[in-house]
Amino acid sequence: MQDCIFCKIVRREIPAEIVYEDEGVMVFKDINPVAPVHLLVIPKKHIPTFFDLQEEDVSVLGRVQLAAARVAAKMNLEKGFRLVSNCREDAGQLVFHLHYHLLGGRPFGWPPG
Ligand code: AMP
Ligand code: ZN
Repeated sequence: MQDCIFCKIVRREIPAEIVYEDEGVMVFKDINPVAPVHLLVIPKKHIPTFFDLQEEDVSVLGRVQLAAARVAAKMNLEKGFRLVSNCREDAGQLVFHLHYHLLGGRPFGWPPG
């Protein structure tokens, strides 16, 4: 998508600290971290929200989660991490390109706010 900020990162039109990339997935540092480790794990394909998922997207989402697990292991998050995705306004979604926040390096409360 032309104006999507995460698509621009995928196309390298704007900079990001990319920590992992494969054919369908990109992982980069969140610009406004809320934990010692705060990464964004995205499919390269522009999918605005979970409501827009198609059958053909199932495999790339599996790849997204596998990448998250591998990056978490590489970043020594054996004690645990949180993988969360905000969907639409009630969850506070700001960027409408589906993404997971990979958060680690400190304990997290439950339920979330
Ligand atoms: P949300 O859509 O609420 O799940 O959050 C979007 C996240 O994207 C926020 O945590 C922002 O800090 C992050 N973000 C926005 N723009 C950038 C950017 N250019 N590079 C890295 N992270 C970004
Ligand atoms: Zn996009």
